Amino acid sequence: MPYRSKHLAALVQGDHTSEVVDLEDEITGQALRGTDRAFEELIRRILDAWTRAFGGPAQPAMSGGALRQILATAQAAVRRLLSDIADRAPGALSDKLGPALALGVRQGTEFVRAASGRRESEPRVPVVGRVLRAEAHRLRDMVTERRDRALFLLHPDRVHRWSQMLAGLGAARAAIPAVRAHIAWVINTAVHEGLDAVVRATAPLRLWVSEADACVRCLAYTGRVVAADQPFPGGLSWDPRQRAARLPGVEGPPLHSHCRCRAVPWDDAWTTAGIPFPLALRREAHRSIAYGRARPSESRAARLRAVRELLRTEPDLLPAVEARARTALQAGRFPAAA
Ligand SMILES: [Zn+2]
Repeated sequence: MPYRSKHLAALVQGDHTSEVVDLEDEITGQALRGTDRAFEELIRRILDAWTRAFGGPAQPAMSGGALRQILATAQAAVRRLLSDIADRAPGALSDKLGPALALGVRQGTEFVRAASGRRESEPRVPVVGRVLRAEAHRLRDMVTERRDRALFLLHPDRVHRWSQMLAGLGAARAAIPAVRAHIAWVINTAVHEGLDAVVRATAPLRLWVSEADACVRCLAYTGRVVAADQPFPGGLSWDPRQRAARLPGVEGPPLHSHCRCRAVPWDDAWTTAGIPFPLALRREAHRSIAYGRARPSESRAARLRAVRELLRTEPDLLPAVEARARTALQAGRFPAAA
């Protein structure tokens, strides 16, 4: 008995996505080991020293022994914290590339079973390739570059005000989100290699499934189907201003950092009970646009342009969705979520 589209969406956007997030969190935890807290404490400690030496963060530093001492402390801490990450992170990520590929194969197979109702067996897990390994090792250079940039900024010639001190410490601390984003990117890429192995073994097509609250670019992809060996079209977006004509195709998600979309095996012969899954995904995208479910990174203006585009190009919107879109466009804003 094939699943309903709602259940397929819950499987991919819910269970499968959380498993990937858990794996990313495990790696990030091993790579960073409380560095976030250590930076907070460091900044507090340096601020205390600055206040004792110069009277407060609003006061400029007087060059001399006190400033040199404070900077030496900051430099030593930055060097230690970031060198530790540079040493640990590549191995932590590298160790989980195989498990990420295996996870993609397992999830892809689960999806095919659910979508087709067939007892599909799992294809062999691909070996970890050179590109993925190189991406894991690149973490070392990413962190080392940021460390050296921060050490350059935390120099007695360049720090006279508290804001300049904070800029140096901030440059060092920025390594943390960068490591987190890179781990997510690499793990999602590895999971997709696993999914693609399932596509090759079981399905003629690939289907883009966006995450539940996706951006206007990813919402233009969700529900799209391409031949298994073909890319998705490049440069799509519901916001005409974010569109890019004549871009090369995209292999698949992730489309941007922190994108949690998936490309899953697909065959139009698999019959979901009720609404076909690709159509259900497109309707979900229409609803998301009409209701203005923006990500924190998205502007209201971009989401309103997407609404205008939705009304212009989709003649068969569900009546409730169309009404909602018209109301938002007239008001120039989206009603607060109930
Ligand atoms: Zn996405």
